[in-house]
Amino acid sequence: MEILDGKKISNQIKDEIAAEVAKMKENGEKVPHLAAIIVGNDGASLTYVGSKVRSCKRVGFESTLVQMPSTTSEVELLKKIKELNKNTDIDGFIVQLPLPDQIDTQKVIMAIDPDKDVDGFHPTNFGKMALDMSTFIPATPFGILELLERYGVETQGKHTVVIGRSHIVGRPMSILMGRKGFPGNSTVTLTHSRTKNITQITSQADIIISALGVPKFLKAEMVKDDVVIIDVGITRVPDDTKEKGYYITGDVDFEHVSKKASYITPVPGGVGPMTIAMLMKNTLLARERHRSRK
Ligand code: NAP
Repeated sequence: MEILDGKKISNQIKDEIAAEVAKMKENGEKVPHLAAIIVGNDGASLTYVGSKVRSCKRVGFESTLVQMPSTTSEVELLKKIKELNKNTDIDGFIVQLPLPDQIDTQKVIMAIDPDKDVDGFHPTNFGKMALDMSTFIPATPFGILELLERYGVETQGKHTVVIGRSHIVGRPMSILMGRKGFPGNSTVTLTHSRTKNITQITSQADIIISALGVPKFLKAEMVKDDVVIIDVGITRVPDDTKEKGYYITGDVDFEHVSKKASYITPVPGGVGPMTIAMLMKNTLLARERHRSRK
């Protein structure tokens, strides 16, 4: 069994990006600038945004954090998005999800300029991805592709089972794994909460990408020998014995499933750090596109 070490690979990717940025600086060019909007003070969201800002620093990007109160109205948020769309200094921006109930997430995503949508959530970018066109691939699926590629995990002709059909992970992942090319050329089954006999399906899978958010959902008896496991799940489980009052766990019963797997991602240290590295990559891409248009 080999660990797909997202922490290590994400650091390599950040080093590569930092080298590109250093070259830009040497040439007197403007460096990429990422902005993030966060509405409210959800603990996990603040942690994610915090690490995105730290990663910008690490690779030499400029970053701007826009913090808005949890009482922010949809109109106020849309106004802020318009400002960022118009701000020529900003190459890309994200709106950290989830948003408070009074705000329609779909409306917000639609308001982002697709050329600055480094999360790849806008329908224009999602459509381009589905049509094999060059675009911003959502960071988590992009990170998973990159991990598979850098470890040389064979995907062609394999049966990939994706668990979860969210717009940000499961659905795009199912499209990407079925695309022509590498990583891709898989035969994909997309499963969700209405899937019947899921064990029958997962036990036939060569590759399982689990993104449902149920701790230790995937057990050893649900998988076959030599399966490749990508665990996207991140759940905070309350635990008073921990300093933070919780511990982080994935969707996979790592202790037992890892004994049968050929490759497996750990949680933490697998898909999570890759997601942030690919957001940096998309921001670099946004900068390059804006530069080439000028
Ligand atoms: P989500 O929007 O919460 O959707 C969960 C999906 O799982 C839904 O499609 C749901 O089915 C399905 N599901 C729920 N229970 C199921 C069951 N018992 N059997 C089969 N399918 C089931 O998901 P998400 O936003 O993609 O997040 C999933 C997990 O990944 C969370 O733990 C999240 O924190 C984590 N995550 C991690 C990263 C990272 O960077 N590592 C990034 C994003 C998300 P229905 O559609 O039928 O409801």
